Amino acid sequence: MGLGANATGLKIDEHARVQHVRGRAIPGLYAAGNAAAHTDVGPVYISGGLMSRGLLWGYIAGRHAAERAHAEPANAEAAGAAE
Ligand SMILES: Cc1cc2nc3c(=O)[nH]c(=O)nc-3n(C[C@H](O)[C@H](O)[C@H](O)COP(=O)(O)OP(=O)(O)OC[C@H]3O[C@@H](n4cnc5c(N)ncnc54)[C@H](O)[C@@H]3O)c2cc1C
Repeated sequence: MGLGANATGLKIDEHARVQHVRGRAIPGLYAAGNAAAHTDVGPVYISGGLMSRGLLWGYIAGRHAAERAHAEPANAEAAGAAE
């Protein structure tokens, strides 16, 4: 956190859930922006590309966590658990 740009970080899936080294999502843990590893990092800097990552993946993470909490209110703290 607090970096201008970061090309490495925590591995996430399509819902922004942080992946365990064994390949499963860690329940309730999401990452976005510079905290996450993004596969779209290329050799060319695209203006706005860094801030939009945080916005996009933050939105994806928040939406997924809210959906999980709504579907399983008794297990809201476990939002993000692997299906
Ligand atoms: C001078 C400059 C110009 C830039 N210009 C552009 C640009 O034009 N376009 C573009 O796309 N990108 C630009 N960037 C890059 C962009 O700003 C960052 O990539 C982006 O802000 C990263 O967002 P983030 O949410 O991942 O991290 P951050 O914006 O760094 O947010 C991390 C947050 O976590 C907080 N935090 C840190 N540690 C803790 C802790 N232990 N507990 C609680 N909170 C904590 C920090 O205070 C901070 O608020 C620029 C960066 C810099 C430095």
